[in-house]
Amino acid sequence: MTKRVVLIGHPVAHSFSAQMQQAAFDALGIDARYELQDTPTPALQETIEALRGDDFLGANVTIPHKERAATFVDRKSEDASATGAVNCITRDGKRLVGHNTDVNAFRVSLDALVGKQKMPRAAVILGAGGGARAAVYALITMGFQRVIVFNRHLHRGEGLVKHFSRSAAHMELRAMPWHESVIESELSRTRVLVNATSVGLASDETPIPAELLAPDLLVMDMIYNPPETRLLRDAKAAGATAVQNGELMLLQQGMDAFQLWTGQQAPADVMRQKLTEAREAGTGRTPAEMA
Ligand code: NDP
Repeated sequence: MTKRVVLIGHPVAHSFSAQMQQAAFDALGIDARYELQDTPTPALQETIEALRGDDFLGANVTIPHKERAATFVDRKSEDASATGAVNCITRDGKRLVGHNTDVNAFRVSLDALVGKQKMPRAAVILGAGGGARAAVYALITMGFQRVIVFNRHLHRGEGLVKHFSRSAAHMELRAMPWHESVIESELSRTRVLVNATSVGLASDETPIPAELLAPDLLVMDMIYNPPETRLLRDAKAAGATAVQNGELMLLQQGMDAFQLWTGQQAPADVMRQKLTEAREAGTGRTPAEMA
């Protein structure tokens, strides 16, 4: 029987995961099919319940469902438990196990962004959804001393900070209101800026004005499609040399998920190559392009 893995999200059409994962299954001769399953929020529980069937190897979960999905699995890995967000689901018999491979993927991605420089100890995160939770938890475990979270709806940022109150007890983790002057002041005290909002995914918008970006900032945008968001273009125009999109994070979270579903080491070169091809071909259309 051909096994199934689905990407559960809304939207999902921008995703490169299908090309990347299908190429990995094919390269290792695994009889499995990776499908995009656009799932509006009311259908989320039912979609996750269906994963208990024998035909499923598991699933990926993406925007905007990572936190809600954590409430529908039977058991959670340490990273999923710590973040309260699930981006990967495996089956253990009929039981569903939630994982969060974004945490390790963010670490790998930040290491690459920082390169040979000394790892900074302070960061500003824009956003407070599932991706932001993975980033914040990774920063906590990497020894960051000050992490400031800005979110459009402050209460969600405050919820994130409360969620991590115990694991971040030794450091300063705060949610602040989304005011440009406050963001500007915080950016002047930090080297790392991470966009974990979806602003820039569906349109050529940026979460913060270009004037707030300084040349010495290390800027990561978790968005990988489009490959160069307006935020990254603005950062480069401001003189920033270290900028990175979400492609490496996507690759790493996908490799870790592949290993969880199949028990086999992911074919990194095949997956990387497929991502490059997808980017160059412009497949995985952005919602803006589809509108
Ligand atoms: P969620 O839906 O959980 O969170 C979305 C976030 O974006 C929230 O903080 C939300 O703020 C914010 N947001 C949405 N619209 C606006 C707006 N118009 N202005 C300001 N803020 C806004 O999504 P995820 O956390 O799962 O994903 C966020 C982004 O990160 C997506 O683009 C996703 O593709 C990317 N990502 C990439 C990964 C990779 O592997 N490269 C991994 C994880 C995420 P509010 O709470 O106020 O609504």
